[in-house]
Amino acid sequence: MAIDFTFPPEVEEVRLRSRRFFEDVVLPAEAEIEIDRTDPESRRTIVKTILALREKAKEHGLWLPQMPNELGGLGLGPTAIAAISAESARTSFGAFAINCQAPDEGNMHTMLHFATEEQREKYLKPLCEGRMRSCFAMTEPEVAGSDPTLIQTRAVRDGDDWVINGHKWFISGARGANIAILIACTDPDADPPQARNTAFIVETPAEGWEIVRDVQTMAGGHNHCEIRISDLRVPHANILGGVGQGHRLGQVRLGPARLAHCMRWIGQIETALCMMIDRATKRYAHGSLLSEKQGIQWKISESLMELYAAKLMVLHAAYLIENGREFRTEVSMCKHHVANTLWKTVDRAVQVHGALGYSRDTPLANMLLSARWSRFADGADEVHMMRIATNAIAAYEESGSLGAVLGDLPV
Ligand SMILES: Cc1cc2nc3c(=O)[nH]c(=O)nc-3n(C[C@H](O)[C@H](O)[C@H](O)COP(=O)(O)OP(=O)(O)OC[C@H]3O[C@@H](n4cnc5c(N)ncnc54)[C@H](O)[C@@H]3O)c2cc1C
Repeated sequence: MAIDFTFPPEVEEVRLRSRRFFEDVVLPAEAEIEIDRTDPESRRTIVKTILALREKAKEHGLWLPQMPNELGGLGLGPTAIAAISAESARTSFGAFAINCQAPDEGNMHTMLHFATEEQREKYLKPLCEGRMRSCFAMTEPEVAGSDPTLIQTRAVRDGDDWVINGHKWFISGARGANIAILIACTDPDADPPQARNTAFIVETPAEGWEIVRDVQTMAGGHNHCEIRISDLRVPHANILGGVGQGHRLGQVRLGPARLAHCMRWIGQIETALCMMIDRATKRYAHGSLLSEKQGIQWKISESLMELYAAKLMVLHAAYLIENGREFRTEVSMCKHHVANTLWKTVDRAVQVHGALGYSRDTPLANMLLSARWSRFADGADEVHMMRIATNAIAAYEESGSLGAVLGDLPV
């Protein structure tokens, strides 16, 4: 029987070790500090705590699970990473502690694929060692982020440099980042339009790279910055992946990066569902516990069914990536399903908690606000649905079946 839903012993061992680390080391460290990202003093304490946790993660053999051994990582594949990421999502700092946090994790993957030897030495290695931080700058306020062929930030060649002008926003982690992977248009007339853009590695801070503000989101300021780019000079040697390769690079980056988000979200879905059940089994109204009422049981069963599907989809999409198989449609379906399950499950958990769910006495408020952006960042629901349908139609027209967009599952 070839289908086996257990991990090999060595992966299971790391998964359980990571669970113990997140439960026994990370959660108690988080409980000791007051998290208020608007307060500079609190931010300094957060950074100090994460740095201390990073040393402990190294002692526990959990540093950098997603990168190959030669870069100091554990060399684990996407399925094993899915398990560890889901464990880390039960904490706030877990992913940072093991150096597997967005956007650095996606940037590391991108550089692993596209960086030259020199770029690896200069940028990828320090990122892997936790000596640098990075951001990824693509979205612009003036044009739809869903369609990168519209990018207006313009790079023009000038001798050995490129001169870049433009405007970006929602650039996560920009404040404090040592490098940015910046996507700019190098040829507005390129045909196909997907060849218009190029990725540049920008050392920050830099003259011409101005952080205008930390955009205040529904959930407050979380270092998602607006950047004004004025006559920024970047050496030609800092092009990542070749001129006109920005779109391809985005695609390579976004597949696994989207899945990495899903891996963390399944951990959050499970946390919300456990909270929902815990509350329902303790709250009494109208002659019985909430957990004995059908209206509440349906919320629990719907959430559990959706979580089950989410876990299978994440693992299967990770399996496709790990085995070098086509994964784009499956990752799109997975991203759409998991983001919407997160949103619905956290919303149901808030409902079952009543006023307590609406308060800031539980993590649900933050979880709900994060769940909202999950449905449009890294590809809006509608864009994923458009791609899923287009790919399904093409597969059907080509072969008269849907096997190619269902991971060639043998059922
Ligand atoms: C918390 C957070 C962090 C982020 N971090 C980063 C980052 O680090 N770097 C970065 O570059 N960007 C980042 N982003 C931006 C994110 O990638 C964009 O929000 C996303 O790509 C959507 O682009 P947009 O916001 O311009 O929305 P738009 O492209 O304007 O889309 C708005 C809405 O239009 C609809 N829509 C769009 N296209 C279609 C279509 N074809 N069919 C039907 N409906 C459609 C959808 O409902 C969509 O939600 C972040 C965003 C958030 C919220």
